[in-house]
Amino acid sequence: MKTLALDIGATKIAIAELNENHEVQWRKQVSSNISDPIWPELKDSLSGLEVDLIGIASAGPIDRSLGTISPVNIPQWREFPIVSELNQLFPSAPVGLLGDCTAVALAENKLGAGVGVSNMLGVVVSTGIGGGLVINGEAFHGETGNAALFGHHSIGFESHIICDCGRTGCLETFARGPKIVEYAKSLGWSAGEDFIALAQSARAGDEKAVAAIDRGSRALAVGITNVLNVMDLHTVVIGGGVSFAGAIYWEPFMRHFEIEKSHAGFLNHVDVFPAKLQAEAGLIGASLFAQEIAR
Ligand SMILES: [Zn+2]
Repeated sequence: MKTLALDIGATKIAIAELNENHEVQWRKQVSSNISDPIWPELKDSLSGLEVDLIGIASAGPIDRSLGTISPVNIPQWREFPIVSELNQLFPSAPVGLLGDCTAVALAENKLGAGVGVSNMLGVVVSTGIGGGLVINGEAFHGETGNAALFGHHSIGFESHIICDCGRTGCLETFARGPKIVEYAKSLGWSAGEDFIALAQSARAGDEKAVAAIDRGSRALAVGITNVLNVMDLHTVVIGGGVSFAGAIYWEPFMRHFEIEKSHAGFLNHVDVFPAKLQAEAGLIGASLFAQEIAR
């Protein structure tokens, strides 16, 4: 059983073949950050493949009922009918489409840090903030496939910061990597341009860097607690570039998270795990979902 998996992200599209145990057999990448039409290039790299199942994990928004995707950072794909395009290329292979962070949550739940748990929230903190839900052991998609679009829930409606999405005070405006860096610069930090440099400064004891990371991690703690409050979930798996900074991010995050969740008695026991599957989580989640719908 061969599964073709696509992980469509902001800057790249990963293509891979996975076996029935969801092990990646080969993978390649095409850039999605280009002005040339993406689909013809992608189609070229897919033609001639023999696959039994297809799973697509895509950055949102998506529409699972229409089989279309409109990833925010790929402007040339607006309501792009990826499912019917793949049906034409591979007429006998069932195609499953789900949100990229839902795929990550599913992968972590079945093969990563959240194994054995029925209900969990998966969080990806990097240049953006994404979320995915597993409920009763299955990927929870919502009506259109965009459930837990977590970076765009507002944690500050009186904030003066307007998010790229148009709303005020979205979690992303406080907690995504580039916004943490922006805030550090507003405090006068000037030792670099990205979160990796900021984390290095914080490790070296730079107070402004420490303060900016503290604020960003607190925002994430508030956001995650909101979701746990609403959903009564007791397991969270966190991955993504910002979370890979290690203790300099996790320590303030856990400190703030303990305080935030202490206000809801039913959240006394929450397990927070770092993600295990890293860069392949989206592909593995797509493969798991493809197998699920084919069953
Ligand atoms: Zn937003």
